[in-house]
This record gives sequence, structure tokens and C-alpha cells, in this order.
Amino acid sequence: MDSINVTRSTLPPFEEYCTEIRGLWDSRRLTNMGEKHEELREKLQEYLGVEHIGLVTNGHQSIELTLQAMGLSGEVITTPFTFASTTHAIVRSGLQPVFCDIDPADFTIDVSKIEGLITERTSAILPVHVYGNVCAVKVIEDIASRHNLKVIYDAAHAFGVKYRGQGIAGFGDASCFSFHATKVFHTIEGGAVACQDGALDRRIAKLKNFGLDGQEDASEVGGNSKLDEFRAAMGLCNLRHIDDEIAKRKQLAEHYRKRLEGAPGIQLNPIQKDVTPNFAYFPAVFNEKVFGADRDDVLAELTAHDIHARKYFYPLTSEFSCYKNCFCPGMTPVAKRVSERILTLPLYPELTLDIVDIICDIVLSCRK
Ligand SMILES: *Cc1c(COP(=O)(O)O)cnc(C)c1O
Repeated sequence: MDSINVTRSTLPPFEEYCTEIRGLWDSRRLTNMGEKHEELREKLQEYLGVEHIGLVTNGHQSIELTLQAMGLSGEVITTPFTFASTTHAIVRSGLQPVFCDIDPADFTIDVSKIEGLITERTSAILPVHVYGNVCAVKVIEDIASRHNLKVIYDAAHAFGVKYRGQGIAGFGDASCFSFHATKVFHTIEGGAVACQDGALDRRIAKLKNFGLDGQEDASEVGGNSKLDEFRAAMGLCNLRHIDDEIAKRKQLAEHYRKRLEGAPGIQLNPIQKDVTPNFAYFPAVFNEKVFGADRDDVLAELTAHDIHARKYFYPLTSEFSCYKNCFCPGMTPVAKRVSERILTLPLYPELTLDIVDIICDIVLSCRK
């Protein structure tokens, strides 16, 4: 058996991509919001069910640009149970992250703890739809409107997810997507800001292109975060296959669930009410006392079989050495406990049910 990684990038048929990029050899328009960029933007607006999409060079830039375009200052309430990018984007934008704990059932922000963290310096809430699990969007909307705060979702995991039939990007002031090669939908590297506000969309469009106004002026101090034509073309190809890819993920995730559900000491990712999921990840939390082995034991056993699960997310971003003495990880005890026990198992469309069976056999064999 070949080595199994936690994920494996999907690719369209080679010829399909060649056909998609052929015209670029004639037009010589390789970047700067060309034909492919515009086509992808329109198709994504439709697929995600959102008014505006700003395509950018990666998911991280989508967060930084949104924070900058909103002109925020002071404190941003967020969670430390996420990828480095979420916290770094806040800090790199000159803002102060304030860490809220997570809900132990779905790992998203614990909305009962948000209001206790709001101060007169708070300007926004930046929750994460972690593993594609939907945050308590209605409660967050209510808190934000009562305290006049912006809501920016890190939706890097949530491409194609719906809540009550509505695309996830319809909630909050903006949703930031990553189209990195390891994500459910990708453009190799890439990302997008989805929003309903035309003024915000225009400001982001300007900031991603040096703040330029026409050829002779710059009205903003912008940088360069443009998505080029070759990556947009990859996105157009991948978008044609996305529903099939998610369907394959679903079948595999359901098989994992069938094999592991009910095993004492294993907590699986929840099936959320009113949510159409995208099956982006298959995390499992191991309770050592009940299961008889801890997360690291399971990881080591899988590694011994050349199967590479990931401690995703461990550690908390608040524990990174770059934030030494800045935050107190003890302030988010649930997040800390989950990060020490969670393991993300391999899941990608090309995985087979047989391999899922092998993985589950190994996981369950760790019980003592
Ligand atoms: C992948 C990811 C990002 C960053 O996206 P890039 O496209 O890699 O820059 C941000 N937040 C989360 C939760 C992610 O998983």
C-alpha cells in the first residue's frame, strides 16, 4: 500500500486544464483581472450564492484585506483553535486578538462567552467555521448588531456549506475563503472575500491592486494580491467537478462514521442540524481515559503503517512561540483540551472505502 496522507489535492483531467488555458497563449493576458478571473468570479458568486466575490492570491490575504478594508482598530474577538493564518492576520493588521473559547461539540466559537469579552475597544468578531462546521451565525449576528461590531468569518474550511439552504457566505459582513491546494475547492493558491456590500467589495478590489485608480493615481496604500489567469483557469476546471468531489467525500466520511461511531472514548465531528456539509475533514477526539489510548498513541500507530493523520489543530495559535508571553492559553480551557486530543484522519476524494476500513481497524486496535 502506498503512503496515505491526511489529504491529497484534487486535479481536473490534464487535457481539460490544457483546453482551459490555451487561449492565454493567444491573448497574452496572463493576469490583472482577465477573462478567466472574471468568469471564475461570476461562477463563484452563483455557486456560493453571494452578491460580491473578490478573488485574491490566497486565503490569508482575504482576511488581511478584509480587516484593512473595514478600517478596523482595537480588539477582535476570535478563537485560538484554528490555523495560524487567522490569528496572524489580526496581529499583522495592527489589531489585538482576544481569544474566546470554543464549543466542545462543534469546535466553533462558544457564543455564550463572547459578550463577556467585549470592551469599548472591540471592533469585530472573527469566528472560524472550523472543519466546515457552521458557527452559531444567528446568535453572532444578534450580538454583533447589539454591540455595533463587524463580523468576519474565516470560511477557509466551509466552501459550499449551506445553512438552512442558504450559502454560508450570506452570513456576517464578510466571509474569507481559501482556495489553497489542500482545500475542498482550490485554485492551487488562491482565496476570496465574499460580501453583500458593494462598497466593501470595491475597496478590497482596489487594495489588492496597489490602491490604483486608473493609470495615474493611487487613492489607497494598497499592495498586490491579484489572482492570475492560470490559477483562475484551475478554479474553473475544479468548479465543474466540485459536486462530484464533495459526493465522494460524503461517502467516505459516512463510512468512517459507520465504523467509528459509538466506540467509547471517540468523539466524531457532529452532524449539525439545518447544515449541508462539505465533508472537508474527518476529525476525531480521543478521550484517553475511556478509549484506553491517547491521541498521540493513535497517531503513532497510524504512522507506523505509513498512514499520516494530522494533529489539526495543535497547538492553539495562542501557544505559538511568536506569541510567547502575549496570551494565556489557560483562558480557553476547552480549546486547549480539544487541541490535545484531536486527530484529523485522512480524507480526500481519491481515498477508497477499503483504505478507510484499514485506517479504522488500526484506530480501533489501539484500544486497550
Ligand atoms: C487554509 C486556511 C487559511 C489560509 O488560507 P491560505 O489560502 O493557505 O492562505 C486560513 N484559515 C484557515 C482556517 C485555513 O484552514
